[in-house]
Amino acid sequence: MTPQEVLAMAKENDVKVVDIRYMDFIGTWQHFSVPVCELTEASFEDGFGFDGSSMRAWQKIDNSDMNVVPEAGTAKIDPFFKVPTLVLIGNIHDPITGEGYSRDPRGIAKRTEAYIKSTGIGDTIFVGPEPEFFIFSNIRYSSDPHASFFEIDSPEAYWNTGDGSEPNLGYKIKPKHGYFPLPPTDNYQDMRTEMMLTLQDLGIDMECQHHEVATAGQSEIDLRFDSLLKMGDKLAWFKYVLRNVAAKYGHCVTFMPKPLYGDNGTGMHTHMSFWKDGDPTFAGNKYAGMSDSALWAIGGIMKHCKALCAITNPTTNSYKRLVPGFEAPIKLAYSSRNRSAAIRLPMYSGSPKAKRLEFRTPDPSANGYMAFSAIAMAMLDGIQNKIDPGDPMDKNIYDLPAEELAAIPSAPGTLEEALDALKTDNDFLLKGDVFTKDVIDYWIDYKMENEVKPVISRPHPHEFYLYFDI
Ligand code: GLU
Ligand code: MG
Ligand code: MG
Repeated sequence: MTPQEVLAMAKENDVKVVDIRYMDFIGTWQHFSVPVCELTEASFEDGFGFDGSSMRAWQKIDNSDMNVVPEAGTAKIDPFFKVPTLVLIGNIHDPITGEGYSRDPRGIAKRTEAYIKSTGIGDTIFVGPEPEFFIFSNIRYSSDPHASFFEIDSPEAYWNTGDGSEPNLGYKIKPKHGYFPLPPTDNYQDMRTEMMLTLQDLGIDMECQHHEVATAGQSEIDLRFDSLLKMGDKLAWFKYVLRNVAAKYGHCVTFMPKPLYGDNGTGMHTHMSFWKDGDPTFAGNKYAGMSDSALWAIGGIMKHCKALCAITNPTTNSYKRLVPGFEAPIKLAYSSRNRSAAIRLPMYSGSPKAKRLEFRTPDPSANGYMAFSAIAMAMLDGIQNKIDPGDPMDKNIYDLPAEELAAIPSAPGTLEEALDALKTDNDFLLKGDVFTKDVIDYWIDYKMENEVKPVISRPHPHEFYLYFDI
């Protein structure tokens, strides 16, 4: 779409307001609106100014002016606002030099795509994420920063016996029994369908929706694969649409990786493959019908996995999901079919076009642009250096004898461990100036100071149970 076509689209849809959106460094979509008369062809070059120092983890107060330059190809009509509103996703630029801002996650995704092309390994990388999430009726938490408790109020949850006033007391999904009972046990069918169809109407192709394994409305809606940058945009729309449809039903959605102790957590398995000149490069005659470059790409992910996790599993809560017994992969092994390995080579279809790897470690607390870029860079490093992934693991990893299990490397146990790994293993991300040194250093610093340290030093509710009467 060209700027002229966007302006025509605004007219056709009687648009009154233009909503400009961009992704912040941590992965939350931000926005502001202008009257439609403010949008001209020049806006697509000059952008709109904003205060970069009021965004988390961006500019300092003494150097705060920034520009967001909308990209015409991203135009969509918002499905929720009362007044007809055109949404444009923007790229962040320095207003003086006009250059792309290094800490703009969308810029990282653009640089990844450009770098892939420059290597000659592929011209397209396809990404297919399977984001899971929980739907809760309500969540109350204290706004007091010194408080250390919150309460999830979910009458649908098996563990909430309630006082008799909640609905659906007869059909509760037991922990880990959510895959796939019909309504009235699964009482979110209409909500999930509305989420899926709202996305479909926005031109975001969807594959399926279903309840997931955990209790309490854990769900999954799968996006049809698309190229990396476009998938970053789609994941931003996805979270926005899910939250707003849930709000219409008086519910909320969370992408937090492990909201409930003792039940499955929330992953975002991510399918990836490189294509060149319209052909898949991952089909071949090696293990599971894969090519050499597919196996080397796996080698790259396995080699860099611990550092990668600092970006694909970027919250302290992410590591509460990566524990044994809840279908979350902790062992860095690969296999066709085996769902206990971190990398699976799906065998649903023998078609060369369907050949891809499924990296199962990521979770949807990740910033899509950065997570998909980091995985792509690890895969490229594997291909460039012909990194051998070793032998596949075709046994159930959870059943292995202790010594065999101990020999397989594990995902990091905490965010701090992942950030430590990223500190020393980041050359693969710096190639092509995709992730700059500033991005890596600032990411580590921000996560340590604002997330790791405050979580570690805060008294935990379970500590009261264990120690209050010690
Ligand atoms: N919820 C599981 C996870 O954390 C994945 C379940 C599945 O989709 O197979 O990763
Ligand atoms: Mg799933
Ligand atoms: Mg999967």
